[in-house]
Amino acid sequence: MSGMYEGAIQDLIDALGRLPGIGPKSAQRIAFHILQSEPEIAAALVDSIRTVKERVKFCTTCGNVSEEDDEGRICRDPRRDNTSICVVEESKDVIAIERTREFRGKYHVLGGAISPIDGIGPEQLRIRELMARLSDPEIVEVILATDPNLEGEATATYLARLIKPLNIKTSRLASGLPVGGDLEYADEVTLGRAFEGRRSV
Ligand SMILES: [Zn+2]
Repeated sequence: MSGMYEGAIQDLIDALGRLPGIGPKSAQRIAFHILQSEPEIAAALVDSIRTVKERVKFCTTCGNVSEEDDEGRICRDPRRDNTSICVVEESKDVIAIERTREFRGKYHVLGGAISPIDGIGPEQLRIRELMARLSDPEIVEVILATDPNLEGEATATYLARLIKPLNIKTSRLASGLPVGGDLEYADEVTLGRAFEGRRSV
């Protein structure tokens, strides 16, 4: 499938094919769509990619996306509870949990989940940064809100074991979330309930 075309169009197909969830067929379809689209549409796409790389940064504390230079909006908010940290895989999970209005603490974004098949081990995630934050005696609770799938469970189990010696109350979201799915796909009510019914691990 790869290398069927020459030069620029194949470069674009290859670049698109490296994006998550885009197989060779989709990459080819999108590349030809871009090729045949109006120049303004392609230019807008290029612009938004460039802008997101220039403007959006990651909060130095929690790893969430942020348009600030240092700490993001949630970390800087003095009304947020400093004693609890909710650990999630991706920034989109922060948005999902914020929508439930069940949580007033701070977040920690790991940047993924442990997945040996994809070559992602604990070193590839922001776990060292999490442990550094947990050394603050002010922290009394950690909520492990990784996705309800194999990788998410493995990550939560790994973290729970790591946090145990610190004597910090550690909990996992209650079951009831669609198993095998992403946290972000759960509706607000279900996710809110899972939050309320979190159990110690
Ligand atoms: Zn932050």
